[in-house]
Amino acid sequence: MLNYLHDFPSIARAIDQRFSISVTDCNGIILCVNDKFCKLSKYERHEIIGQKHSMFDSGLLPDGHFQDMWESLTQGKVWQSEVHNRAKDGTIYSINATVVPVQDENSRLLKYISIDADITDKFQMEEALKKALKNDFWTTVKNLQNAVFKYKENEEGRLTLTMLEGKLVEKIGVPDDWKRERLLETMPSKRIFDYLSGYFRRGLAGEEVHFELNMPQFTLLIYLSPLFEDGRVTEVVGTAIDITERKESERQVKKMAHYDDLTSLPNRRLFQKKLGKALTASEKNGESFAVMFLDLDRFKNINDTLGHNNGDLLLKKVADRLQHCIRQTDTAARLGGDEYAILLPSIKRKEAELIARRICEEMNHFFLIEKLDIFISTSIGISMYPDDGANAETLIRNADAAMYFAKESGKNNYQFFTSDLHRNISERMMLERELHRAIEEQQFHLVYQPQVDIASNKIIGAEALLRWNHPETGFISPADFIPLAEETGLIIPIGTWVLEHACKQNKAWQDAGLNPIRISVNVSLRQFMQHNFVEEVERILERTGLAPEWLDIEITESMTADVSYAQKILNRLHSLGIHISIDDFGTGYSSLSYLSSFPITRLKIDQSFVSDLTENRQAIVKTIIDLAQNLNLNVIAEGVESKEQARLLMALKCEEAQGYLYAKPLSSEEMKKRLFN
Ligand code: C2E
Ligand code: MG
Ligand code: MG
Repeated sequence: MLNYLHDFPSIARAIDQRFSISVTDCNGIILCVNDKFCKLSKYERHEIIGQKHSMFDSGLLPDGHFQDMWESLTQGKVWQSEVHNRAKDGTIYSINATVVPVQDENSRLLKYISIDADITDKFQMEEALKKALKNDFWTTVKNLQNAVFKYKENEEGRLTLTMLEGKLVEKIGVPDDWKRERLLETMPSKRIFDYLSGYFRRGLAGEEVHFELNMPQFTLLIYLSPLFEDGRVTEVVGTAIDITERKESERQVKKMAHYDDLTSLPNRRLFQKKLGKALTASEKNGESFAVMFLDLDRFKNINDTLGHNNGDLLLKKVADRLQHCIRQTDTAARLGGDEYAILLPSIKRKEAELIARRICEEMNHFFLIEKLDIFISTSIGISMYPDDGANAETLIRNADAAMYFAKESGKNNYQFFTSDLHRNISERMMLERELHRAIEEQQFHLVYQPQVDIASNKIIGAEALLRWNHPETGFISPADFIPLAEETGLIIPIGTWVLEHACKQNKAWQDAGLNPIRISVNVSLRQFMQHNFVEEVERILERTGLAPEWLDIEITESMTADVSYAQKILNRLHSLGIHISIDDFGTGYSSLSYLSSFPITRLKIDQSFVSDLTENRQAIVKTIIDLAQNLNLNVIAEGVESKEQARLLMALKCEEAQGYLYAKPLSSEEMKKRLFN
């Protein structure tokens, strides 16, 4: 301590150089300052002496700052503080002031010495940092993809926007002057203002609110959260998020749920909704309305032969054409596949009939698809509310029933529902349900009808015929269920089952050492049109191990209507070594000129010609046999019931026959016995 005092002059010098120093009397008058003080304040010494410290006031210090100093000093305490002063050139400098009181022996303040460290750099850095932080906040807000806003009620109780920031503001096209305080009611859209103010008021009432705002180009999701002070809402902060895209995908999903992808028509679901609405409306106003069911005739053929892409194109064009035939208030829907439905609200039977007729006519004009003229027709069924049903389900079912009736009445026409139809249809629907069950529960089996060489009576083959033994109804004729199976597509699994079982059975007979025979299997059009039909046959032969020459496939003339397709398929079957017979020959309208181009083994004369056959009426049978001989084909007569028929056939040089005269269709066991003999 002594040393320190001893060194006082040099310490004083060091302090003098390092700090700015002032001495002030008890009245606040500056008595003297050092050079550093002058340098920092940028005043000349003479300008300072005799003045008060208030000359350096920057206005940056809170009121009462120096009050605090005086109190400390009068109590003899050292006072320390950061002070921001204004220099002569107006710039601000900051000091860390240490003010030391000088008292007399009675502890009265005489003067004080202020030793100030220059902290301008530090202060400026801090300020810069604060500013940066603040700026950063604003930059963040401004760059938010969302919008942030605040609003309050002004003195007159009008909604006032006090802040609006964020990129969304610009995106939705709000002009810049909305970033300043503004009355909400000055916005251009009265509709949006009315809508918003409802929610904004709820925010002001203290409620947290969120809602969607639909604008022409955008959909916003807006959240409002009130700011409370002393239990009162002073302001409400809000954010807005752009959910336009989300809404769009929602719309898309809704669309997918309610509209058909291919044709953009309403789908079944939407159709049913609209039907529900029509019902409610009609219950109120007592007006009748119509439900139409449409099904394109022979669409499957077109699809199978021209390919699915062209099929799709056709379905689209049909949809467009339908739209042109109906009134604005009507709804055309696609129910799936080639099925359409139309709802015609507030319409009488007569008017509905006119529209149905127009549709039939319009559909009869060809459709141009891929440079091809495609002709198609449609069958329409119509049910009327309230006559044909009081609820949606019945109306739909009855329109569907009427549509089936239209199909059965030769297609390309419309039919109204009648109560007679009802019985017919419900039987049919039952049958369809049962048919599904039959497949699952294996209610099918095959019987085999021998085919013989007329001259020797030797069995040369057998036709596999399908039998359905229904657990309750008993035997159901293939003539009754094959057409339905064909229509519903159930023929595909059934047909495969028949082929496989017939081949397996034939192989089993061969393996049992019986004379080998050819097994004839009927195939249906739908099966024949399956793109993988040949592969399927090939696979079955492989699986069952039956050699192809022991399989005969019976097709009908109708399957050769698409000549090039039939040629392709038949050639492939032929090259596998499989035989092909044309069943029921003479009843169809196959083009004879093409017959020679098909690799066919045999014609089966239809049983109607055989049953008509007498000494005097043999012309048709003779022609068929001659034709077969010309084309180098075998010929077999079906439905031979009498010896007389057999004799005549033999005389006409028909070599093979099948019919009750020889054997009824037999079980596999009975057939085995026959082959044994
Ligand atoms: P289809 O192929 O012309 O079969 C011959 C039909 O004539 C059989 O009737 C047979 O029982 C019957 N029939 C045989 N001999 C005589 C006779 O001397 N007099 C009379 N009146 N009828 C005789 P079924 O078994 O009732 O079959 C009817 C039709 O059902 C078949 O005609 C065929 O078109 C179809 N069918 C039968 N099984 C199958 C099958 O597995 N698949 C397909 N797609 N159709 C089949
Ligand atoms: Mg047959
Ligand atoms: Mg036949």
